[in-house]
Amino acid sequence: KSVDFHMVAKKVVDNFSLQVANHNGILRRNFDATNPIIIADEVHITNILANLVENALKYSGAKPEILVTTTDHTQGILVSVIDNGIGISKENQKRIFEQFYRVPTGNVHNVKGFGLGLSYVKKMVEIHGGSISVESELGIGTKFTIFLPRESDRVNSEESTSILKKVYKRWTQTA
Ligand code: ATP
Ligand code: MG
Repeated sequence: KSVDFHMVAKKVVDNFSLQVANHNGILRRNFDATNPIIIADEVHITNILANLVENALKYSGAKPEILVTTTDHTQGILVSVIDNGIGISKENQKRIFEQFYRVPTGNVHNVKGFGLGLSYVKKMVEIHGGSISVESELGIGTKFTIFLPRESDRVNSEESTSILKKVYKRWTQTA
């Protein structure tokens, strides 16, 4: 199905704005001037972005600054979620996409989670024929970038739904 990417991304940003403000933070968006339409599953696109923004807030410092940017390309769209949070070491960057993996931050950053968000994001992005990457520096912040092709012949609702049902019970209700 066709998805108005900026409309979906704006909804996610709007939904998190108050929550970020309540943490003395600010959530900004800087979207490309174009209006990219991609062939994708709107529910999953929403979940992908929400997971990244949720993490940016969860693993933030005293004054979270989160920026969501998009750039439109011929082949597809690039989306980045950038934060000024605790950062992820090189060693851990290799593992954060594994199911149930959480960086052992102990008492320094005691936030709850299952370690499922990013593995879901990665699977969903790949099902859409896209890719995800992370750049991060400890104590400085993190930038997640995803590429979503404009039109993917790999979008497969059945495949995504069965993956969701298996592990990602949290999102099956909306999927
Ligand atoms: P869940 O998303 O299932 O509620 P979670 O947030 O722990 O739990 P993931 O979203 O998969 O799981 O993230 C895995 C780990 O990667 C996190 O536990 C955290 O240690 C690290 N991480 C993820 N995003 C960030 C970020 N923006 N800044 C710093 N660390 C991060
Ligand atoms: Mg998470």
